[in-house]
Amino acid sequence: MSCLFCSIVNGDIPSNKVYEDELVYAFYDIDPQAPVHFLVIPKEHIPSAGAVTPENSAVVAHCFEVIAQVTKELGITDFRVVSNCGLQAGQSVPHLHFHVLAGRDMTWPPG
Ligand code: 5GP
Ligand code: ZN
Repeated sequence: MSCLFCSIVNGDIPSNKVYEDELVYAFYDIDPQAPVHFLVIPKEHIPSAGAVTPENSAVVAHCFEVIAQVTKELGITDFRVVSNCGLQAGQSVPHLHFHVLAGRDMTWPPG
């Protein structure tokens, strides 16, 4: 099965890495929507937030540990975490990812 983010995890497609461990990979978004915009993804292929189960949810918690650690390392205290699930919500890559956006004022509700 071909998946863009699985290809980024295994190095077939280059990316600008922010963080990596055995479970999680983080890299800067190719089309940033804020001065800081990176993605945190499980290395395991999980299609979306709608496919999280008791069996795979530990990696989701780990993604949030990574978000807290990496933002701290970057000196970021104010940021937004977004996960789009499904086409209507704007998901364009069907591999679970958390957008981390920072460095500008954010509006609410999101569009
Ligand atoms: P989604 O639209 O699914 O919520 O988020 C997918 C994100 O992946 C988008 O913000 C898009 O800019 C980013 N993206 C798509 N292709 C690539 C790529 O090849 N490299 C990187 N670094 N980001 C990508
Ligand atoms: Zn994948």
